[in-house]
Amino acid sequence: MKDRQENLGDIPPEVFREELHKLADWIADYREKIAERRISPTAKPGAVLAQLDTVPPETAAPLGEIFAEIDRVIVPGVAHWAHPQFMSYFGCTTTSPGILAEMITGALNVNAMTWRTSPAATELETLVLGWLRQWLGLPNEFAGVVYDTASISTMHALATAREAAAPNTRKLGLSRRDLPLFRIYASDQAHSSVEKGAIAIGIGEDNVRRVPSDSAFRMDITALRKMIAQDRQENFRPMAVVATVGTTSTASVDPVPQIAKICREHKMWLHIDGAYGAGLALLPECKWITDGWNEVDSIVINPHKMLFVPFDFSALYVRDIGRLRRLFTLVPEYLHLRDPVGAEINYMDYGVQLGRRFRALKAWVVWRAFGRNGIAARIREHLRLANLLADWIKSDNRFELAALVVMPVVCFRFVAADKNKIDMSNSEIVERINASGHAYLTQTKLNGRTVMRIGLGNVLTTEQHLRNVWELIQKTVNEVAT
Ligand code: PLP
Repeated sequence: MKDRQENLGDIPPEVFREELHKLADWIADYREKIAERRISPTAKPGAVLAQLDTVPPETAAPLGEIFAEIDRVIVPGVAHWAHPQFMSYFGCTTTSPGILAEMITGALNVNAMTWRTSPAATELETLVLGWLRQWLGLPNEFAGVVYDTASISTMHALATAREAAAPNTRKLGLSRRDLPLFRIYASDQAHSSVEKGAIAIGIGEDNVRRVPSDSAFRMDITALRKMIAQDRQENFRPMAVVATVGTTSTASVDPVPQIAKICREHKMWLHIDGAYGAGLALLPECKWITDGWNEVDSIVINPHKMLFVPFDFSALYVRDIGRLRRLFTLVPEYLHLRDPVGAEINYMDYGVQLGRRFRALKAWVVWRAFGRNGIAARIREHLRLANLLADWIKSDNRFELAALVVMPVVCFRFVAADKNKIDMSNSEIVERINASGHAYLTQTKLNGRTVMRIGLGNVLTTEQHLRNVWELIQKTVNEVAT
């Protein structure tokens, strides 16, 4: 009988403890020796699957066996984003305090849907959102909510904008109503999450108009004005502008004050996509990026892109958060929410999601462990490294800088090839480097030309790692050029 009882519960506590100690060492070793690993796997699609048992497990397997398979198959099958020479996308922001916090979050496994389901999860979310709001210098009336990603944040911001433009859409939907065709504007450098948001809220991707950008990849205000005027003439209703602070390719910053003026004139919603770039506001010398923020309606920032919180954590701030709450509040009876004094914040009311992870814990731990000073100093160092790389590029006439360095992102191009082959050569250099396993870069297109792109921001990346990558680029260039 006792045996049967034990088999029905969790694994024995002494086994758990032992595995936990082993895992602690495993994670510490992984972090310490990560630079010795290949960054990207060599495997072809399906290779990981081919090594795993596809038959659903019928009987229990010992943890030792499962973990051995993680070591043998899974770990060699991931791209090691935390590797100090992984410089793709936006720098990996996992940190040791963040990893520790994620372990606690897993142990607690609370659902942060309502205050009652976990008061501390709710109140910590309110607390870290308050810290971040102060760090960003957003006016007091802004309040926030934490989601998983910027795409989801922007979708909720656009849904709120749509409800403002077409009241009662929550109740009635958009079809068979006498509504104008709404339009959303974003620069040609804006992230595709704007279209995804438009798709999700019934506006339609064709109604996202891409405004040309200027030579520094910032939204061209004259073009924006023209598009709005043309749309009005054709009976469209300009609904919202998404301005980007830190675009995906070059980290350029749209002219928010001028865009805000246009939005005011046309009574349009102004949302800022600061998914990556808004974090720079923590540096006093970079406060210029916050120009105009006190005039916007909503702003998204992903602390998992610059502020050292492990993936995922996205914060959406709305000037009048009541609009967002009224749009999505829907309380199923089984939750039995009774709050006569209205003191309980239920974050499930601020979006489509009911169940919510306790994301605030990792932000609270990381931000306390580093402090604003420590966070700013680390970002500043990555900005220094980005500028150093830009200097190396400028002093080598085989390369040209493809965009100004505004944030820790550097776009550059190898130009010493046959004119017709420059794009291909740049692609090939990136592919060879990524295949080498020693570095990982991105390629993107600027003005129709292929460029290489390096994103810094990993706490493990040092100047020496950047030098290693630059040397690898030069070596690869020599191979491609010969
Ligand atoms: N906005 C910008 C500027 C981005 O660069 C990205 C992704 O890189 C996103 C939004 C989408 O972010 P997420 O993956 O959090 O949805």
